[in-house]
Amino acid sequence: MAKSLIYIAHDNLNRNKGALKGANPADCEILFVESQNLLRGARWHKQRVFFLLSAARHFAQELRDEGFVVHYLKADNTASGIRTIASKYGEVIATEPSSYRLLASLKEIGVRFVANDFFLTSRKDFISWANSQKSLKLENFYRWQRARLDVLMVGDKPEGGAWNFDEENRLPPPKLGYKWPKYPQHSRDQIDLEVLAEISEFELLGKVEDTTWGTTREAALAQLKRFLTDSFKDFGPLEDAMTKESWAVHHSLLSTYLNVGLITADEVVTEALKRYRKGGVPISSCEGFIRQVIGWREYINGIYWYFGDEYRASNTLGSKRKLLPLFTDSTKTKMNCVSTTVAQIDERGWVHHIPRLMVLSNLAALADVNPAEFLSWMREVFVDAADWVMVPNVIGMSMHADGGRMSTKPYIAGGAYISRMSNYCGDCAYNPKTRTEEDSCPFTTLYWHYLARNGERFKKNHRMFQQLNGMKKLNDLEATVKRGDFVIKGLERGEI
Ligand SMILES: Cc1cc2nc3c(=O)[nH]c(=O)nc-3n(C[C@H](O)[C@H](O)[C@H](O)COP(=O)(O)OP(=O)(O)OC[C@H]3O[C@@H](n4cnc5c(N)ncnc54)[C@H](O)[C@@H]3O)c2cc1C
Repeated sequence: MAKSLIYIAHDNLNRNKGALKGANPADCEILFVESQNLLRGARWHKQRVFFLLSAARHFAQELRDEGFVVHYLKADNTASGIRTIASKYGEVIATEPSSYRLLASLKEIGVRFVANDFFLTSRKDFISWANSQKSLKLENFYRWQRARLDVLMVGDKPEGGAWNFDEENRLPPPKLGYKWPKYPQHSRDQIDLEVLAEISEFELLGKVEDTTWGTTREAALAQLKRFLTDSFKDFGPLEDAMTKESWAVHHSLLSTYLNVGLITADEVVTEALKRYRKGGVPISSCEGFIRQVIGWREYINGIYWYFGDEYRASNTLGSKRKLLPLFTDSTKTKMNCVSTTVAQIDERGWVHHIPRLMVLSNLAALADVNPAEFLSWMREVFVDAADWVMVPNVIGMSMHADGGRMSTKPYIAGGAYISRMSNYCGDCAYNPKTRTEEDSCPFTTLYWHYLARNGERFKKNHRMFQQLNGMKKLNDLEATVKRGDFVIKGLERGEI
């Protein structure tokens, strides 16, 4: 009988998941394809391309070492790569892809799919949960997950007496002198060096000297261990803080590995709970972290499949502005928070969730940037980017471009939020407290500008009532809007 061919996508790098689970070298051969069109189709961050290619090549080598025949092809695109050898095999098998685009192209060539078990919640289960809800609140999904997966539960009650500890988990950064943990660095091996040499031929963004990202399962496990030893206990209280003294704060840096399968959500949850049971980790930190993994990550993936492929094109606020120059060049702004964030992305293709949400996306929303343009840029520069995670996070959560289908209220804030949650404002050129002065923080001015231009649309949204009421009380709204227009023009020129 002809052998089968297992196609391994760049985010299916796990021996015990999907199409590879139980696979035997005697019955099948393995195929990886590096899509040259994809590589040349956008200006990706160097760290992202390096990580994805090198991790796949390391994994391919591990499969060869185990006795598999592995074909590693470079082709115009994935489908053409598969077609070049598919006819020699009984069938082509793949894990259900994580993006609409790959799903469509593999369907077209008749690939047989194995269920995607890289998540804790199947697409079918999410759809039945979503269909049973009046609104798709993360909180309700998360509680359903906790009970269903029996995580941090005592019978049918949440452990510690509450479902969340948000009140304890919103601390600003600690004062100078706080000791931040060291983050692991990974030396480059022969495969890494080959990839680095090859990608130097592509026109890519950012720098690649930083060695935060390892490219193997060992690196992923080392990162998890480092997080559980040095950061887990303080994760919760400082999870929203931003500080000049630490680019990672106490975040786990696991998304990059989780999103390609080098480590899985069930492993992360099991190890986190084991560490919590040993003692010394407060429930606020444990719950805060578990919420991210079994709540947010699963919810975002479910939303991606629930809303369909058209969701990415949503633009209910009709935002048309082109991507601002400061997103691609940190020297195009004097705003400390933005220039620091963009410079950090340049270094390693990563910043934590608050700079993503409350600095970058907040600014894009306030300045009325076109959501599709902003989405493309975010996908290109983040090392952990993937379609399923970027689309709902950008279109739904942060840009509110879906008219509130995912989050009922836009995540927008003025400079006061950044001033409270970071130490960026002290020596910044702008003042977060004022809105009409020459040195007023652009976030503060544009916050009111946003409410003024979108007020009509939000007037029936009870969650926006307080903010709109605040705007009505301003006696300098006209001057604020005028300054907002000026700020937007300056942002377009890269002069603010
Ligand atoms: C605008 C925007 C864009 C984002 N883009 C991405 C992206 O491309 N890839 C990505 O993995 N995450 C994305 N996130 C979610 C989150 O910012 C990152 O998962 C997190 O910063 C990764 O760092 P970490 O592993 O240290 O996370 P931790 O803070 O340590 O959290 C643990 C894990 O929880 C999961 N998680 C937490 N929040 C989310 C979320 N909102 N969506 C999905 N998973 C979540 C991640 O897997 C993460 O590794 C985005 C968030 C926003 C607001």
